[in-house]
Amino acid sequence: MTSLSRLTTIGTGGPAARFARPRTLEELEQALREAAGEGLEVFVVGLGSNVLAADEGVAAFVLRFEGELADVRAESETLVAGGGATNAVCLHRARTAGLGGLEFACAIPGTVGGGVRMNAGAYGRDFSLIVGRALVVSAEGAAWRTPAELDLSYRHSGLHPDEVVARVELGLESRPEAEIKATVAELVAQRKETQPTNKRTFGSVFKNPDHELGAGRMLELCGLKGHRIGGAVISPKHANFIENAGQATSADCLALMREARRRAREQFGVVLEREVVLVGGLELPDLEPAQQ
Ligand SMILES: Cc1cc2nc3c(=O)[nH]c(=O)nc-3n(C[C@H](O)[C@H](O)[C@H](O)COP(=O)(O)OP(=O)(O)OC[C@H]3O[C@@H](n4cnc5c(N)ncnc54)[C@H](O)[C@@H]3O)c2cc1C
Repeated sequence: MTSLSRLTTIGTGGPAARFARPRTLEELEQALREAAGEGLEVFVVGLGSNVLAADEGVAAFVLRFEGELADVRAESETLVAGGGATNAVCLHRARTAGLGGLEFACAIPGTVGGGVRMNAGAYGRDFSLIVGRALVVSAEGAAWRTPAELDLSYRHSGLHPDEVVARVELGLESRPEAEIKATVAELVAQRKETQPTNKRTFGSVFKNPDHELGAGRMLELCGLKGHRIGGAVISPKHANFIENAGQATSADCLALMREARRRAREQFGVVLEREVVLVGGLELPDLEPAQQ
């Protein structure tokens, strides 16, 4: 049985009820029909870099895209990528084709499908700026969607849970390879300076709130850097990251998230909204903003 702990960057989570690695659109459509027939939800896992899954397991048909669903090719100024293509491979293809615009994704360890679902972004840019259109598939069939139809905003898309991104066309622009390389080197160096890039994490825990302080700074001021529950630790480097310090469970991570939200609400009156995707019935309690 395939365990989510092997499919997520944080390295926690229990078994998937069903798991498959579709390689073509036909195999994907078949898997979606099977899931619907068995009454199972579908959960596509990209690189699992923004996912926290229940230790008890996930009652879903979990899919990871391979083959044609993860390939990448450049066509003029468009990069055509399978939903399972990694940002790293896309960036490499774009660079060698002399196409710029995807550099912001160099430190986002995910796939293009995950990038669209999360509208992933960094350094003031995100997928909404480069998606030309995306092929969205559900048990009902497949259709291309424009960025407006995808309803992309800060770490949000309007995709329904049962809709998956099979293919994406990214609109890039001509840029010298050396320039792309230099930008990427600079962004990666910045990242290493400020974030725990060599630890098991799931990226940002919370979205930045509508506040003068970002979530990381807020949690740092709450004294949470280095705070530990079980095998999970709030990163001593950046307080909006949780590190798996060894034998962490998803329950440990969730307990840290609860504590972080409680403290941010107590100290700043702000209810932090999670960025990480919870799966397998994990939930955070509702909190009301505190009266200041
Ligand atoms: C060290 C580190 C740094 C990070 N830095 C950033 C950052 O700077 N900016 C940022 O935005 N994020 C960042 N992240 C979070 C994460 O990398 C992004 O959210 C990324 O886009 C997730 O992609 P993924 O393929 O790994 O998706 P997963 O984490 O596997 O899944 C996330 C969500 O996307 C869905 N999904 C995945 N593939 C598909 C698909 N083909 N079709 C439909 N839905 C799909 C999943 O079902 C899930 O709901 C970071 C994570 C780490 C570990």
